[in-house]
Amino acid sequence: MAVFCSNCGKSLGDEARFCSGCGRPIYATQPPVFVQTRLIRPREGRMVAGVCQGLANNYHWDVVWVRVITVLATIFSSGAGLIAYIVFWLVMPEEPLALPPVTTYTQTNGS
Ligand SMILES: [Zn+2]
Repeated sequence: MAVFCSNCGKSLGDEARFCSGCGRPIYATQPPVFVQTRLIRPREGRMVAGVCQGLANNYHWDVVWVRVITVLATIFSSGAGLIAYIVFWLVMPEEPLALPPVTTYTQTNGS
C-alpha cells in the first residue's frame, strides 16, 4: 500500500512520517478531526446562558427538571451548583449562528 503526500503527491514508503519531498507530516490514519459535540448552548430556549437547555438537549432531559435541579443544588450546596453552572457556561461552546437552531426539545408550556 503506497502512501502519497497530500501536499505534493510524492509516493512514499509506508513507514514514512514526513514527506521526503516537501517535509509535510504524513498521517498513517486521518488526522484527528474535530467531533461536533451536541453539548452546546443553544440560542433558542435559553433562560440565562443556555447551559440547562444545552444539557437537556444533549441528554434528552426535561429542561424544567435540569433547571430545578440546578437551582436546588445551588441552594443546598451553598453555591456549588452555581459554580458548576458557570463552569459549564465557560466550557460549553455557544451554538454557532450558521447552524440551524438545535430545538429538538419538546416545548413545555406552563407548570
Ligand atoms: Zn510532499
